[in-house]
Amino acid sequence: MNGSDQNYEIIIVGAGPAGQTAALYAGRSRIPTLVLERGIPGGQLWNTAEVEDYPGFEQIMGPDLADRIQKHAAKFGATFETAEVELISADGDDRVVRTTDGREFRAPAVIVTAGGEARKLGVPGEEELAGKGVSYCAVCDGAFFQDADIAVVGGGDSAVEEGTFLTRYGKKVYVIHRRDAYRAAPIIVEQMRASGKVEEILSTVVEEIHGTDGKVSHLTLRNVDTDDTSKLEVSAIFPFVGFTPHSKIFDDQLAAKIELDDAGHIKTDDRMQTGFAGIFAAGDVRSQFVRQITNAVGDATTAALAAHAYIEHLKHERSKSAA
Ligand code: NAP
Repeated sequence: MNGSDQNYEIIIVGAGPAGQTAALYAGRSRIPTLVLERGIPGGQLWNTAEVEDYPGFEQIMGPDLADRIQKHAAKFGATFETAEVELISADGDDRVVRTTDGREFRAPAVIVTAGGEARKLGVPGEEELAGKGVSYCAVCDGAFFQDADIAVVGGGDSAVEEGTFLTRYGKKVYVIHRRDAYRAAPIIVEQMRASGKVEEILSTVVEEIHGTDGKVSHLTLRNVDTDDTSKLEVSAIFPFVGFTPHSKIFDDQLAAKIELDDAGHIKTDDRMQTGFAGIFAAGDVRSQFVRQITNAVGDATTAALAAHAYIEHLKHERSKSAA
């Protein structure tokens, strides 16, 4: 069964900046292209407050950039559909993409740009109080905590950048990091300190999130050097402690050939091709040194053009064997 009457040549799984860019390039190459996205195109940009490191935009809100890239990508003819992909497999030269609503799409090439999701702290209270003061999206939920005390957890770019953004709402923002040195870029740490509204709590982990009347009321913290515990009263906690890639979508045949790194990111060659011919990956789901919007869109460009070359090669081989 095919999920549509169209004969697609490239299927793109996920429409974050990488998927949108792959769609833009595939569309410009006049390749029939389908993009499957379970949510709104733009991916993590929807959870990103200010973007200051995308060339050409000194400062732009994440959702605005998502919208601009989407309009640009859609202009070149790719079809965007809302669907959640649950399995990718292979049937001869066809790469087969199955969605949770029972549809199946086929194409010679698939580009996986499925990104990932916020890693959880895994402490008591986190799950129960999600949406009641525990949030993973400052741009979505920050405004609910006007003049409140807010905690941010993590020491990477996301924690420090989103912590700085939250100072526009919170009376005070506590940035709680498990080490005494940040992983975040120094310029982002400088901006956070310049806000004057952040208190840094270093070498400290969150042991438990407590609630009163179903809303976050305080945290139990533990200093990792002294083992001392303390109570911190806050109305909200935003964990930004990394990212779990959406890479577990291959059937056994593909999974046997597609290598993942220790954190579960998909390994590719410099054409963004995985260990299985016709399956490409780009963006945050891919194993790489840095995870920036800029390199996600760059790698997606390579993936789309390499997928095009792969399809042309397949057609050439087929016409040779038919002759
Ligand atoms: P990240 O760089 O992996 O940082 C995760 C942070 O959370 C680290 O400081 C880590 O501590 C801490 N952490 C991990 N597990 C923890 C736990 N269970 N409890 C407490 N702390 C924990 O993740 P990210 O900040 O989400 O960034 C992801 C990628 O996107 C990175 O490559 C980043 O550079 C990129 N990014 C870039 C920008 C930008 O350039 N503007 C913005 C956002 C994200 P340790 O340091 O001790 O490991």
